[in-house]
Amino acid sequence: MHFDLLLKGGEVVDPGSGYSGRLDVAITRNRIAAVEANIPAEAARRVIDATGQYVTPGLVDLHTHVYHSVTTWGILADPVAARSGVTTWLDVGSAGAYNWLGFREFIVKPADVRIYALLNISSIGLTAPTWELANLNYCDVDLCCKLTDLHRDLVLGIKVRIDKNTTSGTGVEPLRRAREAAERCELPMMVHIGIGPPEINEVLAFLRPGDILTHCCTGHSMRLIDETGNLLETARRAWDMGVIMDIGHGAGSFSFLSAEAMLGAGHVPDVISSDIHQFSIHGPLFDLPTCMSKFLALGMTFPQVVEAATTRPAAALGLQHEIGTLKPGALADVALFRIEQGDFPLYDVHMNQRNSKQLIHNTLTLVNGRPMARLADPPPAPWIELTAAQQALLANGHTPAALLGIYDF
Ligand SMILES: [Zn+2]
Repeated sequence: MHFDLLLKGGEVVDPGSGYSGRLDVAITRNRIAAVEANIPAEAARRVIDATGQYVTPGLVDLHTHVYHSVTTWGILADPVAARSGVTTWLDVGSAGAYNWLGFREFIVKPADVRIYALLNISSIGLTAPTWELANLNYCDVDLCCKLTDLHRDLVLGIKVRIDKNTTSGTGVEPLRRAREAAERCELPMMVHIGIGPPEINEVLAFLRPGDILTHCCTGHSMRLIDETGNLLETARRAWDMGVIMDIGHGAGSFSFLSAEAMLGAGHVPDVISSDIHQFSIHGPLFDLPTCMSKFLALGMTFPQVVEAATTRPAAALGLQHEIGTLKPGALADVALFRIEQGDFPLYDVHMNQRNSKQLIHNTLTLVNGRPMARLADPPPAPWIELTAAQQALLANGHTPAALLGIYDF
């Protein structure tokens, strides 16, 4: 007996390391030990039958908010991870310098999943729904760099949200300060866009190779698509230069029209991420597999959407040898999926509908070689009331669970 666990008979999809097809995945302790055809069941202490399922690296979600109970947006990661296959969560800017220590102690430490973070240039993070950059006294570059330096094991970059509400009159000065902090710490910066001002071109001018532009398919005024449906020249130049284009669906940041224009012009987003939080978890985002299913509806293949949610985000974080891959030696984070066939109505944040023939459905999630237990979500935060659109999704039976006929929870 060589292995602790064997995932047998599944269809492996691991675009990063090139494994594909009917292969067995063997795990020893918390690492991938082998990916081969026909590993005998006797070689492992425990065997999980993966027949009829896709076996992928655990998903890496590049845009999440998991500072639960402390920030307006935060959700609890573990229950969502266990039912969605997301094993690495990048929390982007929920914590700033003043509430970072609590994030480390009370969120990262007790979680079963892997959690990393981008530190908000605003020292108060996303405590309130917005306006975190409206007071420039909170945008303290020295303090942001000091906390980042002390916590480099978890802080992988700097986050700044640039739109009309977050800046509320301070323009691109918070962005300039985030740029300065990122440069001093030699880490990437993630910039959120939405409703201007500032103008999108002012923002793009600050981006450097390796930085991440999130909400790249927004339908709002800072969108990357012009009136004729073409990608802005400035956006194309930033992309060509090595800026990473990230979806960050969220509650207000994903438009089918923008995504169709982008894909139609041959530009495939680098990373598919969820921007899951208190306002988006009840739909139409729901979770990362549902978001990936929307890109299947737009014509991407399953290996392409898996790459955009494993290999690409892992590489953006410099963690490609540890996560987002099934290469032997990598951490044993694995997700099992079924692709259900049918006619599934899916929606963007404007409630525009597209019908997908396929819905990606997670059946099992392993972190460090251990299957995660399925848990119920805690109740929504007290300030959450479902929007009319979210209530309509429920009433029409258009939640993923209802579409799949699953009532596990
Ligand atoms: Zn976000």
